[in-house]
Amino acid sequence: MDLSRRVFLQKLGLLGASLAAPSLSWAAQTAAGSTEPGAETIRRAAPVARQGEAGVHFVHHGPGLGRRLAVTFDDGPTPGVTEKVLAALRERQLSATFFMIGQRVAAAPSLARRVREEGHEIGNHSYTHPQLGRLLAQQVQEQLQRTQVTIEQATGFRPSWMRPPYGSFRPAQASIAAQESLGVVFWSVDTRDWARPGTERILETVLTQSRPGSIVLMHDLHLQTAEVVGRVLDGLLERGFEFATISGFLGSPRNA
Ligand SMILES: [Zn+2]
Repeated sequence: MDLSRRVFLQKLGLLGASLAAPSLSWAAQTAAGSTEPGAETIRRAAPVARQGEAGVHFVHHGPGLGRRLAVTFDDGPTPGVTEKVLAALRERQLSATFFMIGQRVAAAPSLARRVREEGHEIGNHSYTHPQLGRLLAQQVQEQLQRTQVTIEQATGFRPSWMRPPYGSFRPAQASIAAQESLGVVFWSVDTRDWARPGTERILETVLTQSRPGSIVLMHDLHLQTAEVVGRVLDGLLERGFEFATISGFLGSPRNA
């Protein structure tokens, strides 16, 4: 075993133990607090296989108080589509969160930067969009790390949240995200717009399923989404919803 692999596994062991501490919300926070009594003992004793057994936060929705929800767009940035989504948000002065694919950011860095400059949050959606749940820990770490670096280089913003492609992420992998100081967020309203079900279907799904606390999943991938997003936003506004970014909604996993 080479040194970097050993160090990585040691870190996982530390984080795995931390995840088992029910009184602390976020593994990253616990890992930083290594002065905690007994931490050394736990660190040595914690096998990698036990990571994430308890206390793992996989977020599927926000707080249901008030009328706030979060609209999110995955899989971009996509030249020709993302600009239209941005225009719809700008016209209504609304903020959203864009979970970007690292290699697509590398291909269109100025578009990624523009998303940030227009006041939206950027999240990590892996580098090549694999099913992370099927990968080895080191591969998952590389997917997340490389995307963090690429997004930060393009936009000056380092994501606080990641969303696993296809929702494929095992509880045992939570500590890998925590090691990158990333919270893991899924969704509660799935428009399935990636399959291009038609603009009316996308609109109907969002408007019938959204509740206070909802996390709405869309994709800035196809023109069909861009064509309907203005009506989706107007429909939510008419129903009295307010819009939050994921960090505005959930806070930062680093400070929680
Ligand atoms: Zn995706």
